[in-house]
Amino acid sequence: MTLEQRARELAAKYAPEGGENARIAEAYAFAAEAHKDQFRQSGEPYVTHALAVAEIVADMALDEDSVVAALLHDTVEDTSVTIRDIVDRFGETVAEIVDGLTKLERIPYSSKEEQEVENLRKMLMAMSKDIRVILVKLADRLHNIRTLDAKSDAKRRLIALETMDVYSPIAHRLGITTIKTELEDRSLRYLDPIGYDEIVSALENTAEFRSEFIARVKENMAEKLSGLNIKNLSIEGRVKSLYSIYRKMFMQNKTIDEIYDLYAIRVIVDTKEECYNVLGVIHDLYKPMPRRFKDYISTPKPNLYQSLHTTLIGREGTPFEVQIRTWEMHHVAEYGVAAHWKYKEGGVDVGEDYEKKLGWIRSMLETQQDSDAEDFISNFKTDMFTDEVYVFTPKGDVINLPAGATTIDFAYAIHSGVGNRMVGAKVNNRIVPIDTVLNNGDIVEILTSKVSRGPGRDWINIVRTSEARTKIKQWYKKERREENIVQGREALDAELKKNGILLADAEKTEGMLAACRRLSFNTVEDMLAGIGYGGLAVQRAANRIREELGRPVKPEQPESSDQVATVPVVRRSESGVIVEGAADCLVKFARCCTPVPGDEIVGFVTRGYGVSVHRAGCANVSGMAENRDRFVGVCWADVTEGSFAASIEITARDRVTLIADITAVLANQHIPIHGIQTKKNGGGEIVLQLDISVNDRRHLEAVCGRVHGVRGVVDVVRSGMEREAAPAAAGKGAEA
Ligand code: MN
Repeated sequence: MTLEQRARELAAKYAPEGGENARIAEAYAFAAEAHKDQFRQSGEPYVTHALAVAEIVADMALDEDSVVAALLHDTVEDTSVTIRDIVDRFGETVAEIVDGLTKLERIPYSSKEEQEVENLRKMLMAMSKDIRVILVKLADRLHNIRTLDAKSDAKRRLIALETMDVYSPIAHRLGITTIKTELEDRSLRYLDPIGYDEIVSALENTAEFRSEFIARVKENMAEKLSGLNIKNLSIEGRVKSLYSIYRKMFMQNKTIDEIYDLYAIRVIVDTKEECYNVLGVIHDLYKPMPRRFKDYISTPKPNLYQSLHTTLIGREGTPFEVQIRTWEMHHVAEYGVAAHWKYKEGGVDVGEDYEKKLGWIRSMLETQQDSDAEDFISNFKTDMFTDEVYVFTPKGDVINLPAGATTIDFAYAIHSGVGNRMVGAKVNNRIVPIDTVLNNGDIVEILTSKVSRGPGRDWINIVRTSEARTKIKQWYKKERREENIVQGREALDAELKKNGILLADAEKTEGMLAACRRLSFNTVEDMLAGIGYGGLAVQRAANRIREELGRPVKPEQPESSDQVATVPVVRRSESGVIVEGAADCLVKFARCCTPVPGDEIVGFVTRGYGVSVHRAGCANVSGMAENRDRFVGVCWADVTEGSFAASIEITARDRVTLIADITAVLANQHIPIHGIQTKKNGGGEIVLQLDISVNDRRHLEAVCGRVHGVRGVVDVVRSGMEREAAPAAAGKGAEA
């Protein structure tokens, strides 16, 4: 048959009144013209492919728009035709489907980790706002894999792998068994040619026995079932799909004889009642195998599949599976969600009425009772009602961001170094403003410069992810640290000059560092920053330096705390904290910021309750800056024992078992929980404050990391601080 004849036949199929469907005929002519100078690797004209895809779409009984879109699916990608042309000639719906297909074409694929593959699948679904995009795409992939022989070996393997990883699971989820099965069987041939051949020859060896066996069973059944007077009865024998045999043989380590449903009979009738009647009759005829009966009619599978399954024992002891279903169930079993068009012919225009379509799929799914139905529905919902976008790095790695995320979020998702040096961005190879909101499937490239002056202050208001926001804030905090150091240096320099010491000279001596250590700082810079932000009184620093440099203390400058300046040699303490100048004074850990070993800490002399220990950045500490003289140097003991109270704040998208999941993660790590508070955050987010105990900062960071991994968790921070990410840069604490 020539291409033109095939096209005419296709157009005739969609002309209920006879004749030809004009739009389909026009679409074929349009595609043939657009592709006229292109040839497939096999040498055939390119339009063969478009026509074949359209024929598969027609076999799935999709609507006219889908067939038209299938004919045009490669025109925008491969020829000078634009989406505008398609809107003008074939309307918005067709143009949208073609546009979706063109975008899917851009998605890079290389063998990936399971998580990334799952993201890729989700992205495909999310990008295909109209489910027909996916259905036509599956038809496209099916024809490509049917004609894979013309390609190179490496190319074949890659396409087969992608088909197995991405497209066959999607076909499965949508319940399109015919396509799923053929995609898998054909991919298998390229991925494991030896295993494939083994099964083919095993099946060939048993072909004669099998066909005799099946013929006999069919005959027996037909005779018995004739008593039921079923109008449209069909009894067919079939062989299980190659790939499912392969899976059972190679993954469950079974021999081909151990596979029950290798021999299978399918009975198709008109009504549900007839299904159960047929079951009764054949259970009389053959002995059913115990525990092999499954009623997927009263309890359909999540992908809409319905049938009765039973395994019977044949006269010679050969087990065989029987599936019983109605014609409608049969069509759904073969075509899944695509069957919708067959059974809703002339119904809702799903292309224009997106919400209604989603509602239809949702209600179909929500009536499912299967145990993993909930999982499926929640997957499907994230796919279809997603508030996430999936975009690519230029290398093809998938990055998952919340909807509304910009190129800046992307940059920080890659690495804070990329974000901090970002000077511009390209999306799909075009330079764009950096606040550009990303769409599914965008390929994003961040332009960086070593001489970048860092993130702009307004970025905080542009970014959508808390990760980016935190990293930008951290950058500014660090920047302020530079300012703090400058200020601290000026103050210390002035103070030391009163004692006849030049800071520049002092810094050249070992005594300087020793003084820092005694003041619980790791480096001179840390100490200067501490003076700069008010965490350390400049007089105290000057006195320590003076002592270390061996200069006499001037008697006219008495400072009460300095007069009892004795440094504990053994840095041990029951509380875990050493208070400078006071061997065993009462130490309290501030509840507002719950310091743990490894944190940078400051001590504050309370009225009557000893020293309260805060984290250096605690908001309350900066509020106490006026009482400088009441700060006292503290540091962690060399050895800290036991656990320390800490509070973390978790921001998450609320869902049913969220809190249970989080507490389970903590229980697994033997982290005691002393208190939980929750509040709504608006927008379906919830904020949990958890009071826990940990050994030290590193331990806490590990715990936060685990909690962050719980599904739905957006952010984990420590309470009481400016929103600083818990797994922040390594502790600058004295003992870190
Ligand atoms: Mn194609």
